[in-house]
Amino acid sequence: MRYVSTRGGAAPQRFSDILLEGLAPDGGLYVPESYPMADLAAWRGLGYPGLAAAILQQFMDDVRDLKALVGRTYTKAVFGSDDIVPLKTLEPGLHLLGLSQGPTLAFKDIALQLLGELFEQVLGARAQTLNILGATSGDTGSAAEHAMRGRERLAVFMLSPHGRMSAFQAAQMYSLQDANIHNLAVKGTFDDCQDLVKRVNADAAFKARQRIGAVNSINWARIAAQVVYYFWGYFRATRGNQESVSFAVPSGNFGNIYAGYVARRMGLPVRRLILATNENDVLDEFFRTGKYRVRQAAVATSSPSMDISKASNFERYAFDLVEREGGALGGLWRQLETDGEIDLSLIPRSGFASGRSTHADRIATIRSVHARYGVTVDPHTADGIKVGLEQREAGVPLICLETALPAKFAATIREALGREPERAQVFEGLEQRPQRCASIAADEQAVKRYIEAHAA
Ligand SMILES: *Cc1c(COP(=O)(O)O)cnc(C)c1O
Repeated sequence: MRYVSTRGGAAPQRFSDILLEGLAPDGGLYVPESYPMADLAAWRGLGYPGLAAAILQQFMDDVRDLKALVGRTYTKAVFGSDDIVPLKTLEPGLHLLGLSQGPTLAFKDIALQLLGELFEQVLGARAQTLNILGATSGDTGSAAEHAMRGRERLAVFMLSPHGRMSAFQAAQMYSLQDANIHNLAVKGTFDDCQDLVKRVNADAAFKARQRIGAVNSINWARIAAQVVYYFWGYFRATRGNQESVSFAVPSGNFGNIYAGYVARRMGLPVRRLILATNENDVLDEFFRTGKYRVRQAAVATSSPSMDISKASNFERYAFDLVEREGGALGGLWRQLETDGEIDLSLIPRSGFASGRSTHADRIATIRSVHARYGVTVDPHTADGIKVGLEQREAGVPLICLETALPAKFAATIREALGREPERAQVFEGLEQRPQRCASIAADEQAVKRYIEAHAA
């Protein structure tokens, strides 16, 4: 399998090269040259690690011992059950796909745990080191740190907006004591953090010298890992491979639902991919109108992991919309830079539906799901369920993706249900554990100096 850039200006690459590289040199994102075909009959009976190996093998054909690596990643010890991703049936034809059973209680663990194993293996084979620089509004940072902690040849430098995460999210990151994990608390917003990462990465000489890598959702390995659970959920929710299902996906950077789109391109019978946004509704607007209009800044909401002003993975989907013409895509993205919007309304956007959910919707959905089914869902999952139910069709099973557990967002659960969310024993007293983080000014030079002093 070879990977090409969405902007058409880079030579095709093997998977292990794009794993370490991040963005293509022409500024585009890497996508596979073609979509592999699914073998539904052979895959239906597989356990999660077996299914993951069968699918990932298609995308990562140059990784040695991939099957063993996948087997080490998806274990009961890490994800709490042999199912890894359990499907819970709320009522006939309505399911919740449990993506949040990993160490940091959000779906990002599924991809990042795999990424940790992949980095270790590929860096070991090449005798290289990597310094991961990232920005987080909460979930990505903790999932990345828990996946990379204690690994040789790797250090993590994670910028987070000081005082803007939930207490639980901050404690999940700042309580890690591993020497290769560096939390940098920035006095500023998430956008400031992301800006710093961009500016450091723009210094090509520094980037090469310090071997800077990324774990954000533009990394293809994360998309590939997420394709797996769409197949898994389908097999659990249907009796045969003739049925189709719809998925409801709480969305921000378009990484999760884009993996569902890839699964459909591989032949998974998906009727609708139902995209849910919160008040930051740039993607809902696109699927309703065909106009993609990025915002100046995201507004802060009670589903914070979906607070985005533009959706990085959207470029991959748009590449297919323009028939994979890198030149055309490059032109559109230049226009997006200057005008802040592009109009794709003349191109059919089939197979998607979308909707928007507000704070009041979230609270109402958390309450009604709890009252009807006795299940507490987190605010992001609630956004997905709200929009999913609006777009549900009779006779088509609906699988709602659960993207985080309620324990991470206690304040919203208290507001909805008047009590604390349950938390597993291992998280008791998390917020009281000693914390380790460095305060840093929102200044590119300060970040660079810190990396130089602590690099792997
Ligand atoms: C990251 C995240 C999302 C958004 O996923 P995208 O891949 O960015 O669309 C939704 N819910 C939770 C809990 C998340 O952590």
